[in-house]
Amino acid sequence: SSLASLLGSRFASFSPVGEKLYAVAKGRDPNQPEFLQAVEEVIKSLEPVFKRDARYATIFERLLEPERVIQFRVPWVDDKGVERVNRGFRVQYNSAIGPYKGGLRLASHVNLSVIKFLGFEQIFKNSLTTLPMGGGKGGSDFDPHGKSDVEVMRFCQSFMTELYRHIGPNTDVPAGDIGVGKREVGYLFGQYKRIVNAFEGVLTGKALEFGGSLIRPEATGYGAVYFASEMMKSVGKGLKGMKVAVSGAGNVAQYAVEKLLDENAIPVTMGDTSGHIYEPEGITREQLAEVMHLVNVERKKLDSFKGLSKKGVYTPGLKTRVWVHKCDIAMPCATQNEIEKEHAIMLRDNGCFAVVEGANMPSTNEAVDVYQEAGMMYGLGKAANAGGVAVSGLEMSQNSMRYSWTRDEVDQKLRSIMHTIHKNAYDTASEWGFPGNLQIGANIAGFLKVAHAMEVQGTV
Ligand code: GLU
Repeated sequence: SSLASLLGSRFASFSPVGEKLYAVAKGRDPNQPEFLQAVEEVIKSLEPVFKRDARYATIFERLLEPERVIQFRVPWVDDKGVERVNRGFRVQYNSAIGPYKGGLRLASHVNLSVIKFLGFEQIFKNSLTTLPMGGGKGGSDFDPHGKSDVEVMRFCQSFMTELYRHIGPNTDVPAGDIGVGKREVGYLFGQYKRIVNAFEGVLTGKALEFGGSLIRPEATGYGAVYFASEMMKSVGKGLKGMKVAVSGAGNVAQYAVEKLLDENAIPVTMGDTSGHIYEPEGITREQLAEVMHLVNVERKKLDSFKGLSKKGVYTPGLKTRVWVHKCDIAMPCATQNEIEKEHAIMLRDNGCFAVVEGANMPSTNEAVDVYQEAGMMYGLGKAANAGGVAVSGLEMSQNSMRYSWTRDEVDQKLRSIMHTIHKNAYDTASEWGFPGNLQIGANIAGFLKVAHAMEVQGTV
Protein backbone atom coordinates (compact mmCIF):
# COMPACT_ATOMS: atom_id res chain seq x y z
CA SER A 1 0.00 0.00 0.00
CA SER A 2 1.04 3.61 -0.37
CA LEU A 3 1.07 4.05 3.44
CA ALA A 4 3.44 1.11 3.75
CA SER A 5 5.80 2.50 1.15
CA LEU A 6 5.62 5.90 2.83
CA LEU A 7 6.63 4.31 6.15
CA GLY A 8 9.33 2.33 4.39
CA SER A 9 10.96 5.43 3.02
CA ARG A 10 10.56 7.18 6.41
CA PHE A 11 12.68 4.51 8.00
CA ALA A 12 15.40 4.62 5.39
CA SER A 13 16.78 8.00 6.48
CA PHE A 14 16.90 10.54 9.31
CA SER A 15 15.51 14.08 9.38
CA PRO A 16 18.16 16.76 10.09
CA VAL A 17 17.18 16.78 13.81
CA GLY A 18 17.42 13.00 14.01
CA GLU A 19 20.72 13.02 12.15
CA LYS A 20 22.14 15.47 14.68
CA LEU A 21 21.01 13.41 17.67
CA TYR A 22 22.44 10.24 16.15
CA ALA A 23 25.72 12.06 15.49
CA VAL A 24 25.93 12.99 19.18
CA ALA A 25 25.66 9.33 20.19
CA LYS A 26 28.01 8.14 17.47
CA GLY A 27 30.53 10.89 18.19
CA ARG A 28 30.83 9.76 21.81
CA ASP A 29 30.77 6.02 21.21
CA PRO A 30 31.66 5.20 17.62
CA ASN A 31 32.45 1.58 18.52
CA GLN A 32 29.16 0.59 20.16
CA PRO A 33 27.17 -0.89 17.24
CA GLU A 34 24.34 -2.46 19.29
CA PHE A 35 23.80 0.73 21.28
CA LEU A 36 23.83 2.88 18.14
CA GLN A 37 21.38 0.50 16.46
CA ALA A 38 18.92 0.84 19.35
CA VAL A 39 19.36 4.63 19.37
CA GLU A 40 18.77 4.88 15.61
CA GLU A 41 15.56 2.87 15.87
CA VAL A 42 14.15 5.07 18.62
CA ILE A 43 15.20 8.35 17.00
CA LYS A 44 13.47 7.43 13.74
CA SER A 45 10.27 6.59 15.59
CA LEU A 46 10.41 9.86 17.55
CA GLU A 47 10.92 12.16 14.55
CA PRO A 48 7.26 13.34 14.63
CA VAL A 49 7.68 14.28 18.31
CA PHE A 50 10.90 16.23 17.71
CA LYS A 51 9.19 17.98 14.81
CA ARG A 52 6.23 19.04 16.93
CA ASP A 53 8.31 20.40 19.80
CA ALA A 54 12.08 20.90 19.72
CA ARG A 55 12.31 20.64 23.53
CA TYR A 56 11.81 16.90 23.17
CA ALA A 57 14.97 16.66 21.08
CA THR A 58 16.86 18.39 23.90
CA ILE A 59 15.49 15.98 26.46
CA PHE A 60 16.31 13.04 24.19
CA GLU A 61 19.87 14.29 23.85
CA ARG A 62 20.16 14.19 27.65
CA LEU A 63 18.71 10.68 27.60
CA LEU A 64 21.45 9.51 25.24
CA GLU A 65 23.89 9.55 28.13
CA PRO A 66 23.27 6.99 30.92
CA GLU A 67 22.99 8.50 34.40
CA ARG A 68 25.73 6.17 35.60
CA VAL A 69 27.92 3.40 34.16
CA ILE A 70 29.63 0.99 36.54
CA GLN A 71 32.31 -1.40 35.29
CA PHE A 72 34.17 -3.70 37.63
CA ARG A 73 36.48 -6.66 38.00
CA VAL A 74 34.94 -10.01 38.92
CA PRO A 75 37.66 -12.35 40.18
CA TRP A 76 36.74 -15.97 41.03
CA VAL A 77 38.45 -19.32 41.43
CA ASP A 78 37.48 -22.25 39.17
CA ASP A 79 37.19 -25.91 40.19
CA LYS A 80 40.84 -26.54 39.34
CA GLY A 81 41.91 -23.81 41.73
CA VAL A 82 42.84 -21.45 38.89
CA GLU A 83 42.12 -17.72 39.33
CA ARG A 84 39.82 -16.31 36.68
CA VAL A 85 38.74 -12.75 35.92
CA ASN A 86 35.63 -11.48 34.17
CA ARG A 87 34.31 -7.99 33.54
CA GLY A 88 31.11 -6.90 35.28
CA PHE A 89 28.76 -4.06 34.31
CA ARG A 90 25.76 -2.21 35.64
CA VAL A 91 24.38 0.64 33.57
CA GLN A 92 21.99 2.77 35.63
CA TYR A 93 20.45 4.37 32.61
CA ASN A 94 17.48 6.43 33.70
CA SER A 95 15.64 6.93 36.99
CA ALA A 96 13.07 9.55 35.94
CA ILE A 97 10.03 7.38 36.69
CA GLY A 98 11.32 4.91 39.27
CA PRO A 99 14.32 3.00 40.61
CA TYR A 100 16.59 1.53 37.94
CA LYS A 101 15.16 -1.81 36.88
CA GLY A 102 16.40 -4.40 34.44
CA GLY A 103 18.09 -7.75 34.17
CA LEU A 104 21.62 -9.08 34.39
CA ARG A 105 22.95 -10.95 31.35
CA LEU A 106 25.71 -13.55 31.61
CA ALA A 107 27.03 -14.45 28.15
CA SER A 108 30.34 -14.34 26.35
CA HIS A 109 29.01 -11.66 23.97
CA VAL A 110 28.42 -9.17 26.80
CA ASN A 111 30.25 -5.85 26.51
CA LEU A 112 29.43 -2.21 27.26
CA SER A 113 27.66 -1.70 23.92
CA VAL A 114 25.34 -4.63 24.56
CA ILE A 115 24.54 -3.58 28.14
CA LYS A 116 23.94 0.02 27.04
CA PHE A 117 21.56 -1.01 24.26
CA LEU A 118 19.65 -3.21 26.71
CA GLY A 119 19.52 -0.48 29.36
CA PHE A 120 18.36 2.05 26.78
CA GLU A 121 15.55 -0.23 25.56
CA GLN A 122 14.60 -0.96 29.16
CA ILE A 123 13.75 2.73 29.81
CA PHE A 124 10.96 2.75 27.24
CA LYS A 125 9.81 -0.79 27.95
CA ASN A 126 9.48 -0.14 31.67
CA SER A 127 7.68 3.12 30.97
CA LEU A 128 5.10 1.21 28.89
CA THR A 129 4.36 -1.29 31.68
CA THR A 130 2.46 1.44 33.60
CA LEU A 131 4.54 0.60 36.70
CA PRO A 132 7.04 3.02 38.29
CA MET A 133 10.38 1.61 37.11
CA GLY A 134 13.39 3.35 35.61
CA GLY A 135 15.76 1.64 33.18
CA GLY A 136 18.97 -0.26 33.84
CA LYS A 137 20.87 -3.36 32.81
CA GLY A 138 23.97 -5.25 33.82
CA GLY A 139 25.89 -8.44 33.38
CA SER A 140 29.21 -9.97 32.58
CA ASP A 141 31.11 -11.77 29.84
CA PHE A 142 31.09 -14.85 32.11
CA ASP A 143 29.34 -17.76 30.36
CA PRO A 144 27.61 -20.13 32.83
CA HIS A 145 27.43 -22.91 30.18
CA GLY A 146 29.76 -25.73 31.04
CA LYS A 147 30.52 -24.31 34.51
CA SER A 148 29.76 -26.31 37.65
CA ASP A 149 27.14 -25.13 40.14
CA VAL A 150 29.90 -24.20 42.57
CA GLU A 151 31.75 -22.17 39.94
CA VAL A 152 28.54 -20.30 39.13
CA MET A 153 28.04 -19.69 42.87
CA ARG A 154 31.57 -18.33 43.34
CA PHE A 155 31.16 -16.09 40.32
CA CYS A 156 27.78 -14.75 41.51
CA GLN A 157 29.14 -14.09 45.01
CA SER A 158 32.12 -12.19 43.63
CA PHE A 159 29.88 -10.23 41.23
CA MET A 160 27.58 -9.21 44.08
CA THR A 161 30.50 -8.35 46.39
CA GLU A 162 31.07 -5.36 44.10
CA LEU A 163 27.53 -4.75 42.87
CA TYR A 164 25.80 -4.58 46.29
CA ARG A 165 27.06 -1.06 47.03
CA HIS A 166 25.35 0.29 43.92
CA ILE A 167 21.90 -1.30 44.28
CA GLY A 168 18.99 -1.49 46.74
CA PRO A 169 15.23 -2.04 46.75
CA ASN A 170 14.61 1.70 46.21
CA THR A 171 17.71 2.37 44.10
CA ASP A 172 18.27 -0.33 41.53
CA VAL A 173 16.63 -3.74 41.33
CA PRO A 174 18.34 -6.26 39.00
CA ALA A 175 16.77 -9.51 37.74
CA GLY A 176 17.51 -12.24 35.22
CA ASP A 177 18.17 -12.17 31.50
CA ILE A 178 20.12 -14.52 29.22
CA GLY A 179 22.26 -16.83 31.42
CA VAL A 180 20.62 -15.67 34.65
CA GLY A 181 17.72 -17.67 36.08
CA LYS A 182 16.50 -18.79 39.46
CA ARG A 183 19.83 -20.44 40.37
CA GLU A 184 21.92 -17.32 39.70
CA VAL A 185 19.37 -14.96 41.31
CA GLY A 186 19.46 -17.20 44.41
CA TYR A 187 23.24 -16.99 44.75
CA LEU A 188 23.22 -13.23 44.08
CA PHE A 189 20.45 -12.67 46.65
CA GLY A 190 22.20 -14.79 49.29
CA GLN A 191 25.40 -12.78 48.95
CA TYR A 192 23.59 -9.41 49.03
CA LYS A 193 21.69 -10.37 52.17
CA ARG A 194 24.85 -11.53 53.88
CA ILE A 195 26.73 -8.30 53.08
CA VAL A 196 24.04 -5.74 53.95
CA ASN A 197 22.48 -7.83 56.75
CA ALA A 198 18.97 -7.03 55.55
CA PHE A 199 16.25 -9.05 53.88
CA GLU A 200 15.19 -6.77 51.02
CA GLY A 201 13.47 -7.15 47.65
CA VAL A 202 16.65 -6.08 45.89
CA LEU A 203 16.38 -8.63 43.08
CA THR A 204 13.39 -9.99 41.20
CA GLY A 205 13.01 -13.44 39.71
CA LYS A 206 13.62 -14.91 43.16
CA ALA A 207 12.44 -18.39 44.08
CA LEU A 208 8.98 -18.50 45.68
CA GLU A 209 10.33 -19.44 49.11
CA PHE A 210 12.03 -16.09 49.65
CA GLY A 211 9.82 -13.48 48.03
CA GLY A 212 9.57 -14.51 44.41
CA SER A 213 6.32 -14.00 42.52
CA LEU A 214 4.13 -16.64 40.95
CA ILE A 215 4.07 -16.31 37.14
CA ARG A 216 7.43 -14.47 37.05
CA PRO A 217 9.17 -17.39 35.27
CA GLU A 218 6.35 -17.57 32.72
CA ALA A 219 5.82 -13.82 32.39
CA THR A 220 7.94 -12.82 29.38
CA GLY A 221 6.75 -15.70 27.19
CA TYR A 222 3.11 -15.56 28.33
CA GLY A 223 3.11 -11.77 27.99
CA ALA A 224 4.46 -11.93 24.43
CA VAL A 225 1.66 -14.33 23.46
CA TYR A 226 -0.95 -12.10 25.17
CA PHE A 227 0.48 -9.23 23.14
CA ALA A 228 0.33 -11.31 19.93
CA SER A 229 -3.29 -12.07 20.74
CA GLU A 230 -4.07 -8.34 21.09
CA MET A 231 -2.38 -7.71 17.73
CA MET A 232 -4.52 -10.40 16.09
CA LYS A 233 -7.69 -8.99 17.69
CA SER A 234 -6.92 -5.53 16.28
CA VAL A 235 -7.26 -6.96 12.74
CA GLY A 236 -10.19 -9.22 13.51
CA LYS A 237 -8.14 -12.42 13.79
CA GLY A 238 -7.15 -14.82 16.58
CA LEU A 239 -4.17 -17.03 17.40
CA LYS A 240 -6.13 -20.24 16.94
CA GLY A 241 -4.65 -22.34 14.12
CA MET A 242 -1.82 -19.87 13.41
CA LYS A 243 1.54 -21.46 12.63
CA VAL A 244 4.17 -19.73 14.71
CA ALA A 245 7.94 -19.97 14.21
CA VAL A 246 9.57 -19.52 17.61
CA SER A 247 13.32 -19.13 18.04
CA GLY A 248 15.11 -19.78 21.31
CA ALA A 249 14.81 -22.67 23.76
CA GLY A 250 15.31 -20.77 27.02
CA ASN A 251 12.95 -19.15 29.48
CA VAL A 252 11.14 -16.85 27.03
CA ALA A 253 10.73 -19.40 24.21
CA GLN A 254 9.59 -22.18 26.55
CA TYR A 255 6.70 -20.23 28.03
CA ALA A 256 5.82 -18.63 24.71
CA VAL A 257 5.37 -22.14 23.26
CA GLU A 258 3.37 -23.24 26.32
CA LYS A 259 0.97 -20.32 26.02
CA LEU A 260 0.70 -20.70 22.23
CA LEU A 261 -0.47 -24.27 22.87
CA ASP A 262 -3.00 -22.99 25.44
CA GLU A 263 -4.32 -20.62 22.77
CA ASN A 264 -4.59 -23.43 20.17
CA ALA A 265 -1.90 -21.89 17.98
CA ILE A 266 0.66 -24.18 16.30
CA PRO A 267 4.26 -23.51 17.39
CA VAL A 268 6.40 -25.16 14.68
CA THR A 269 9.99 -24.41 15.74
CA MET A 270 12.36 -23.91 18.67
CA GLY A 271 16.08 -23.25 18.34
CA ASP A 272 19.31 -22.49 20.15
CA THR A 273 22.98 -22.03 19.25
CA SER A 274 23.33 -25.77 18.54
CA GLY A 275 20.54 -25.81 15.94
CA HIS A 276 16.76 -25.90 15.68
CA ILE A 277 13.86 -28.30 15.56
CA TYR A 278 11.00 -28.01 13.06
CA GLU A 279 7.72 -29.83 13.60
CA PRO A 280 5.43 -29.04 10.64
CA GLU A 281 2.34 -30.17 12.56
CA GLY A 282 3.30 -28.38 15.73
CA ILE A 283 5.46 -28.95 18.80
CA THR A 284 3.49 -31.00 21.34
CA ARG A 285 3.29 -30.53 25.12
CA GLU A 286 5.36 -33.71 25.55
CA GLN A 287 8.07 -32.37 23.27
CA LEU A 288 8.02 -29.03 25.12
CA ALA A 289 8.40 -30.89 28.43
CA GLU A 290 11.47 -32.66 27.03
CA VAL A 291 13.00 -29.35 25.88
CA MET A 292 12.36 -27.85 29.33
CA HIS A 293 13.99 -30.78 31.08
CA LEU A 294 16.93 -30.78 28.69
CA VAL A 295 17.60 -27.05 29.00
CA ASN A 296 16.56 -26.30 32.60
CA VAL A 297 17.59 -29.47 34.41
CA GLU A 298 20.27 -31.16 32.30
CA ARG A 299 21.56 -27.78 31.03
CA LYS A 300 22.03 -29.25 27.56
CA LYS A 301 21.17 -27.94 24.10
CA LEU A 302 18.73 -28.99 21.41
CA ASP A 303 21.31 -31.21 19.71
CA SER A 304 20.53 -33.65 22.56
CA PHE A 305 16.76 -33.59 21.83
CA LYS A 306 15.47 -37.13 21.34
CA GLY A 307 11.74 -36.69 20.79
CA LEU A 308 11.36 -35.63 17.12
CA SER A 309 8.21 -36.90 15.39
CA LYS A 310 8.35 -38.78 12.06
CA LYS A 311 7.86 -35.52 10.18
CA GLY A 312 10.08 -33.51 12.52
CA VAL A 313 13.48 -32.24 11.38
CA TYR A 314 16.53 -31.13 13.36
CA THR A 315 18.90 -28.76 11.57
CA PRO A 316 22.28 -28.22 13.21
CA GLY A 317 24.04 -24.86 13.46
CA LEU A 318 22.91 -21.26 12.95
CA LYS A 319 23.53 -20.90 9.23
CA THR A 320 19.99 -22.05 8.54
CA ARG A 321 17.61 -20.50 11.07
CA VAL A 322 14.01 -21.17 12.01
CA TRP A 323 12.95 -18.33 9.69
CA VAL A 324 13.28 -20.54 6.59
CA HIS A 325 10.09 -22.36 7.58
CA LYS A 326 6.63 -21.34 6.47
CA CYS A 327 4.69 -19.62 9.24
CA ASP A 328 1.97 -17.05 9.83
CA ILE A 329 3.69 -15.39 12.77
CA ALA A 330 7.37 -15.17 13.73
CA MET A 331 8.28 -14.96 17.41
CA PRO A 332 12.01 -14.35 17.87
CA CYS A 333 12.69 -15.30 21.51
CA ALA A 334 16.47 -15.84 21.48
CA THR A 335 18.76 -12.81 21.23
CA GLN A 336 19.62 -9.56 19.45
CA ASN A 337 19.93 -9.42 15.66
CA GLU A 338 18.73 -12.96 15.07
CA ILE A 339 16.55 -11.74 12.18
CA GLU A 340 18.63 -10.02 9.53
CA LYS A 341 17.34 -8.51 6.32
CA GLU A 342 17.65 -11.79 4.36
CA HIS A 343 15.61 -13.63 7.03
CA ALA A 344 12.96 -10.91 7.03
CA ILE A 345 12.68 -11.27 3.24
CA MET A 346 12.28 -15.06 3.58
CA LEU A 347 9.55 -14.61 6.19
CA ARG A 348 7.74 -12.07 4.03
CA ASP A 349 7.99 -14.19 0.88
CA ASN A 350 6.71 -17.27 2.74
CA GLY A 351 3.55 -15.46 3.83
CA CYS A 352 4.43 -14.53 7.40
CA PHE A 353 2.28 -11.50 8.24
CA ALA A 354 3.29 -10.65 11.83
CA VAL A 355 6.47 -10.49 13.91
CA VAL A 356 6.18 -10.47 17.71
CA GLU A 357 9.46 -10.02 19.57
CA GLY A 358 10.04 -11.98 22.78
CA ALA A 359 13.75 -11.11 22.72
CA ASN A 360 15.34 -7.68 22.97
CA MET A 361 16.12 -6.15 19.54
CA PRO A 362 16.00 -9.50 17.71
CA SER A 363 15.46 -7.74 14.36
CA THR A 364 18.09 -5.58 12.70
CA ASN A 365 16.85 -2.16 11.60
CA GLU A 366 17.09 -3.36 7.98
CA ALA A 367 14.84 -6.32 8.85
CA VAL A 368 12.31 -3.94 10.44
CA ASP A 369 12.35 -1.86 7.27
CA VAL A 370 11.36 -5.01 5.36
CA TYR A 371 8.39 -5.61 7.73
CA GLN A 372 7.22 -2.01 7.48
CA GLU A 373 7.60 -1.78 3.71
CA ALA A 374 5.71 -5.05 3.27
CA GLY A 375 2.93 -3.89 5.59
CA MET A 376 3.57 -6.79 7.99
CA MET A 377 2.38 -6.32 11.59
CA TYR A 378 5.30 -5.58 13.89
CA GLY A 379 5.15 -6.03 17.68
CA LEU A 380 8.49 -4.66 18.81
CA GLY A 381 10.27 -6.08 21.85
CA LYS A 382 9.86 -3.01 24.03
CA ALA A 383 6.12 -3.59 23.97
CA ALA A 384 5.74 -7.31 23.26
CA ASN A 385 8.28 -8.62 25.79
CA ALA A 386 7.48 -6.16 28.58
CA GLY A 387 5.55 -8.83 30.49
CA GLY A 388 8.71 -10.09 32.18
CA VAL A 389 9.71 -6.82 33.71
CA ALA A 390 6.05 -6.01 34.42
CA VAL A 391 5.75 -9.05 36.68
CA SER A 392 9.11 -8.09 38.19
CA GLY A 393 7.40 -4.81 39.08
CA LEU A 394 4.58 -6.84 40.66
CA GLU A 395 7.19 -8.86 42.57
CA MET A 396 8.55 -5.56 43.95
CA SER A 397 5.02 -4.54 44.98
CA GLN A 398 4.45 -7.85 46.77
CA ASN A 399 7.83 -7.58 48.53
CA SER A 400 7.00 -4.06 49.72
CA MET A 401 3.67 -5.26 51.06
CA ARG A 402 5.24 -8.41 52.54
CA TYR A 403 2.45 -10.31 50.84
CA SER A 404 1.98 -12.56 47.84
CA TRP A 405 -0.74 -12.76 45.26
CA THR A 406 -2.11 -16.01 43.83
CA ARG A 407 -1.18 -17.34 40.40
CA ASP A 408 -4.51 -16.15 39.03
CA GLU A 409 -4.17 -12.68 40.52
CA VAL A 410 -0.73 -12.18 38.96
CA ASP A 411 -1.79 -13.67 35.62
CA GLN A 412 -4.82 -11.37 35.47
CA LYS A 413 -2.63 -8.36 36.20
CA LEU A 414 -0.16 -9.48 33.50
CA ARG A 415 -2.96 -9.89 30.94
CA SER A 416 -4.36 -6.50 31.77
CA ILE A 417 -0.91 -4.85 31.54
CA MET A 418 -0.26 -6.42 28.11
CA HIS A 419 -3.69 -5.24 26.97
CA THR A 420 -2.91 -1.72 28.19
CA ILE A 421 0.52 -1.68 26.52
CA HIS A 422 -1.00 -2.71 23.21
CA LYS A 423 -3.82 -0.17 23.49
CA ASN A 424 -1.43 2.62 24.44
CA ALA A 425 0.90 1.85 21.49
CA TYR A 426 -2.03 1.42 19.10
CA ASP A 427 -3.82 4.61 20.17
CA THR A 428 -0.62 6.65 20.26
CA ALA A 429 0.23 5.52 16.72
CA SER A 430 -3.18 6.73 15.52
CA GLU A 431 -2.94 10.03 17.39
CA TRP A 432 0.37 10.81 15.73
CA GLY A 433 -0.85 9.90 12.26
CA PHE A 434 0.60 6.39 11.85
CA PRO A 435 -2.39 4.10 12.37
CA GLY A 436 -1.45 0.48 13.06
CA ASN A 437 2.25 1.22 13.47
CA LEU A 438 3.01 -0.18 16.94
CA GLN A 439 6.70 0.61 16.53
CA ILE A 440 6.12 4.34 16.33
CA GLY A 441 3.26 4.21 18.85
CA ALA A 442 5.21 2.28 21.51
CA ASN A 443 8.35 4.36 21.15
CA ILE A 444 6.44 7.64 21.34
CA ALA A 445 4.26 6.57 24.29
CA GLY A 446 7.22 5.11 26.19
CA PHE A 447 9.35 8.19 25.57
CA LEU A 448 6.76 10.88 26.35
CA LYS A 449 6.11 9.61 29.89
CA VAL A 450 9.84 9.58 30.68
CA ALA A 451 10.41 12.94 28.95
CA HIS A 452 7.64 14.64 30.92
CA ALA A 453 9.02 13.24 34.18
CA MET A 454 12.52 14.44 33.25
CA GLU A 455 11.23 17.86 32.34
CA VAL A 456 9.33 18.56 35.57
CA GLN A 457 12.21 17.25 37.68
CA GLY A 458 14.50 19.91 36.17
CA THR A 459 17.82 19.48 34.42
CA VAL A 460 19.39 17.16 36.93
N1 GLU B 1 15.54 -9.22 31.36
C1 GLU B 1 14.15 -8.94 31.24
C2 GLU B 1 13.94 -7.85 30.22
O1 GLU B 1 14.68 -7.78 29.26
C3 GLU B 1 13.48 -8.68 32.58
C4 GLU B 1 14.07 -7.59 33.39
C5 GLU B 1 13.49 -7.50 34.81
O2 GLU B 1 12.66 -8.31 35.16
O3 GLU B 1 13.91 -6.58 35.52
O4 GLU B 1 13.04 -7.07 30.28
